[in-house]
Amino acid sequence: MLTLMEDTIFAKIIRREISADIVYEDDDTLAFLDAHPNNPGHTLVIPKIYSRNILSISEKSLAVLMQTVRKLAPVVVRAVNADGINIIINNESAAGQLVFHTHVHLIPRFVDDGYKGWPSKPYKDGEAQAVAQKIRAAI
Ligand code: 5GP
Repeated sequence: MLTLMEDTIFAKIIRREISADIVYEDDDTLAFLDAHPNNPGHTLVIPKIYSRNILSISEKSLAVLMQTVRKLAPVVVRAVNADGINIIINNESAAGQLVFHTHVHLIPRFVDDGYKGWPSKPYKDGEAQAVAQKIRAAI
């Protein structure tokens, strides 16, 4: 059977072919609880129009996605009485993306939840300037 690239588990949730704990929906976006939460209230926000991830999403689709993120982030914090929230997008396998339909993780954080930050990898001498120049040149 032919499987479309965009026919991910999240497309099935949009089409209500598999169930999810949906917390918000509008014409362009859907939000539901992550099935494997890092903390209670861990929510995924997705655009209804398919894109693989942030590297290829249209500006319009990203804009509506972020409007919903802005709407829901403080709501989720309030609902679970969190102390803060991480807003994360994983893009491609190397960055931890498992489901290839753009999604934003809203992960409520609590002062004692035990998660540590990212390890820092300091630049060698001159490396920061070279990397910054590569990025400027690529724009
Ligand atoms: P990624 O690693 O791609 O950024 O995150 C994908 C997320 O989707 C994971 O945190 C995973 O727990 C969640 N997930 C995968 N399958 C399902 C599902 O069928 N239902 C829900 N609600 N979440 C899912």
